Amino acid sequence: MKATAAILYDVKEPLVVEDVELLEPGPHEVLVRFAANGVCHSDLHVMTGDYPHPLPVVLGHEAAGIVERVGAGVESVKPGDHVCSSYIPSCGRCWYCINGRPTLCALRDKPRYFLLDGTTRLRKDGRPLHHFLQVSGYATHGVLLEEGVIPIRRDAPLDVVCLVSCGVLAGAGPVMNCAKVPPGASVAVFGCGGVGLNTIQAARLVGASKIIAVDVMANKLRWAEEFGATHAVDASKEDPVARIAAIAGRGGVDYAFEVVGTQQTIEQALASTHRGGMTVVVGVCPAGTRLAIDPTMFLQQRILTGTSFGGGHQRTDVPMLIDLFMDGKYKLTELISRRLPLGEINHAFDLMRQGEVKRSVIVYE
Ligand SMILES: [Zn+2]
Ligand SMILES: [Zn+2]
Repeated sequence: MKATAAILYDVKEPLVVEDVELLEPGPHEVLVRFAANGVCHSDLHVMTGDYPHPLPVVLGHEAAGIVERVGAGVESVKPGDHVCSSYIPSCGRCWYCINGRPTLCALRDKPRYFLLDGTTRLRKDGRPLHHFLQVSGYATHGVLLEEGVIPIRRDAPLDVVCLVSCGVLAGAGPVMNCAKVPPGASVAVFGCGGVGLNTIQAARLVGASKIIAVDVMANKLRWAEEFGATHAVDASKEDPVARIAAIAGRGGVDYAFEVVGTQQTIEQALASTHRGGMTVVVGVCPAGTRLAIDPTMFLQQRILTGTSFGGGHQRTDVPMLIDLFMDGKYKLTELISRRLPLGEINHAFDLMRQGEVKRSVIVYE
């Protein structure tokens, strides 16, 4: 069948929106008509070459849509079901899944630019196009793994809840699943864009006392306060580590979350925790990034760890966050600064580069 997709042919070049051929779903694969896909920094990392990836590729990994057809043997979804994409699949059978850590599923070891049989379902003029994280949501339709779609309630607006498929869970999950921030704790969040705002929002939800937002852009610090930050620190104007220590007392915060993805901000986040504090890395660093850390930090029992896709149970965390949103307890609509058609996708990335938007969403008719 035909679909329209945004293709990256070369790094540092604009995406090209054109018709492509989509092959039928194979066994344990699902054909999804996408309703929307959020614009995420991880796509931009591929476009800039910071995150090397086979080309050409159809990017996009923050999608929601409706199942149109299923391949042989698919049991967990059926045509008409509403789904979020799961850019980390969970098979339910591997050692990680069985041990309750499905965001580490063994399927991550397979190349994520092919489906599980080592081929793609996307073609342009007979030439294969790579998938991205087995989602490729910058397209009107996609073929995904059964393990890579999460059924969700039908009354949730797909052009809003698509955000849960990456940025929202990636930001909120570490607070609940990894750090397990208790009520009254002090928290610092480095980076207040479309992901970090969810870290802030989750910290508010679990009852953190001090939520210290750190960024270098005044507009992002304003957003942070709207999403629950109690303090804002402009790292372009003052040393965030010293300022956090002064606000939190005890020499630093209980928990720091790094949602930027640079050496400097990870090192600052670690330094902003007190002895025994925990730092969780959420930001995706360009390939080749290295840290310089004084090991004394670890003798003082600081913990440095990280997560992807929230570090919990994506198949229950995604519907849980959607339920909170539908109950009015979690802000999603407010995360969306712009809604754009696929034809304006390059403009959406320009807006992201300029730091002008919390999140943009590409919407399909
Ligand atoms: Zn993402
Ligand atoms: Zn698994």
